[in-house]
Order: sequence, then C-alpha cells, then structure tokens
Amino acid sequence: MSSKFFRLLILAAGLLCLLTAEGFAAPIHKLNYFQTSTFDRDGQDVLRIEIGMNKEDLDYKVTVKPYLTRCLILDLKSTRPGKLKDDIPLKSDLAKRVRIQELEVNHTQVSIYLNIEATEDAYKVYTLPADRKEKKPYRLVVEIAKPVVSGMEKLEALKGHAVVLDAGHGGSDSGAIGPHGVKEKDVTLAVTKKVQDILKNSGSRVIMTRETDRDVYGINATDRQELQARVNVGLYAPETELFLSIHCNAFSNPAAHGMETYHYDGSYRGQRLATLLNEELEEAGGLFNRGVKTANFYVIKHSAVPASLIELGFITNYKEEALLDDDEYQTKLAFAIAKALNRYFQE
Ligand SMILES: [Zn+2]
Repeated sequence: MSSKFFRLLILAAGLLCLLTAEGFAAPIHKLNYFQTSTFDRDGQDVLRIEIGMNKEDLDYKVTVKPYLTRCLILDLKSTRPGKLKDDIPLKSDLAKRVRIQELEVNHTQVSIYLNIEATEDAYKVYTLPADRKEKKPYRLVVEIAKPVVSGMEKLEALKGHAVVLDAGHGGSDSGAIGPHGVKEKDVTLAVTKKVQDILKNSGSRVIMTRETDRDVYGINATDRQELQARVNVGLYAPETELFLSIHCNAFSNPAAHGMETYHYDGSYRGQRLATLLNEELEEAGGLFNRGVKTANFYVIKHSAVPASLIELGFITNYKEEALLDDDEYQTKLAFAIAKALNRYFQE
C-alpha cells in the first residue's frame, strides 16, 4: 500500500469521524418565524399560530396543567428562542398572548395563554414542512378553536335560517353600569357572541350589528342615527327572518330585579318570538320573570322582520350584576336564546 493512499485513507476516516460527531450532537433548532392567522372551519373561527425554525424534526411535547387550564404549554427540545420576542400579545378572541422562554439551555418553552379552556378538542398541534412558495420555514403549528357545542340536543330547526343579532350599546355608549362597574355593552356583546357561535354551529346565517366594542353608526351620532344604523343591518340583508336585540336592565333602586322580553305591539310573530325567549330565559337563567311586554323601542318598531328586545336581568342589582358578568351564566343564557329561536323556526 502506498503511503500516499494510506494518508488519504486516514484523512477520509477523520472526515467521517467529524461528520458522525456532528450527526450525533443534537441539532439545535432556532426559532426564526412567527405568524398568526384566522380561518373558518365549518362556521367556526380558528386561530392558527405558526412558529418557524431553521431545522426540521422538532421534538416537542404539549401539556395543560390542571391548575392552569387556559394555557397551552409547548416544550421544545433542543431549541433556542432565536430571534423571537419573549412576549407576543395576540389580537384574538381565542388567545391573549404567547410567551417564549428558554427554561434551561436548549430547552425552550412556549406558553399560549387562551381565552377559552384548553380542553382536548379546543386545540391541535402539528408540524409542517417548509413552504418555499409561501416563504415559510419548517413550522410548529397550533390551531385553536372553541370546541363544537356539545351536551345538548341538536338545534335542527335553525339550519338554513338567517337572523340579525344586535348586542345593545357599544363603543362610546357603555349602556347601564353596575355597582361593581360591569358595563352593559360588555355583557350584551359577550352573550350575543355566544349566541352567534351556537347558531352558526347549528347552520344558521348570523348577521351581527357589531362584533366588537364599537358604535354601529359612529361616535357623536344621535340616538336615532345609532339605532337606525342597527335596524339597517337587517334591512340591508333582505334574507333575514328575525331581529333580536340583547340588553340588560337598569333602575335607580338596586332592588329592582328580573328578566323581561319585549315585542312591538301588533306584531304577532314578534309576540311569539318574545314569548319563546321569555320561556327559555326563565328556565335557564332562573331570574324573576317580569313577563312578555310591548314597547315602542326604536329597533323593534322599525325592524322589517319580526323582532324582540330582551332584558337579561338588572345590571344595577348586585346579585344580577355578578351573574350577568359570569361566563358560565352567559353561556346558559346564550343556549336559552338559541333554543327559543330554534322553537320559533320549528313552528
Ligand atoms: Zn340597553
């Protein structure tokens, strides 16, 4: 064997050793990409969070702690936070923020703080290969969605119907304010959005006068302009079949309490709607029933379709203010409203 060949052999062996050593050392993933987006899955809003990195084959684990049920914890092995910020606020109904920290060397933890319970059917985590066309690296993807409503009979009659939901007040108009500062505009929006979710799940088309904390006409509008703007939402969607305005009651005496529903005098279908809402709200909410009443409220008077305005309870009453502010109680009321609409369309 020539010495030249021998030297070459040693060189090759050395090179192979180097390569193998490199191959055995755990490759460090460095986070280098962050993006959020929303999309619609069968009428459900889904939030997608994409966390990209420089290498494939990420070893990760997802946990939800029993004492922190609204937080998704992702442990990423052999990973460093790279250039991502350690605290990223999110503009979403489903999640508040993402925190990224290196717990120990090469072990990065991503915590996603949700606005909903992190139950198993509320999230999905998976990885995606790099997408050159979209200029996206290899990514860890987290999808978050409110779980499809379960635990109740299907609201079959809602399918294919179109309704307008009006969350009372909003923006510059907070509506009534409770003794502990709970604002009517926040309660009405929370309940209305829950009703929207349930109706959409059941196959209804839902037109909202507002989906955020805002004035519908604009700030500095007259009451009439503001209320007409809400009625117009229904008028401009000619396929709508009913208009429902959701409010909380208020009175100077904090002892005033209970729930009531309204319709415009002379509207037979409006009366039927208000009656069904009254029955279901009484059963679910358990408040004193002040009855089904007629009124000349602007939105139910000027609606082109059968309409009802409901007062869920008195925000000026200590006990009812606390109930109206409670997420679980709001869900109960939302189901009651959806059930009433289902019965309405059944007839
Ligand atoms: Zn109101």
